[in-house]
Amino acid sequence: MRDHCPKCGHKFEREPGYWVGAVIFNTALAIAAIFATMAIFLAASWPDVPWTALTVATVAVSVIVPSIGYPYARTLWMAYDLYVHPLEEREIEAGRARAASVNG
Ligand SMILES: [Zn+2]
Repeated sequence: MRDHCPKCGHKFEREPGYWVGAVIFNTALAIAAIFATMAIFLAASWPDVPWTALTVATVAVSVIVPSIGYPYARTLWMAYDLYVHPLEEREIEAGRARAASVNG
């Protein structure tokens, strides 16, 4: 991922530790996917639950979903952060200056 937007110069990592929010979003997504997998398995097979298949599916979901979901979690985090913490004037000016120097 680039450090800055190539069009407007926005610096994606607005402060140190900025991506912790994306990790929290990604973790929440993974937990929701794990619970959804368990709920679907249990609802579809109750009372004869295939526990080994449920375990394998849940572990697979817990590895695959966060791996695929992290870029989306970063995007969602940035959108949320920009909504609740809009750009300050100094960030807008820095982005304009950066875009002007890059784009000419
Ligand atoms: Zn931009």
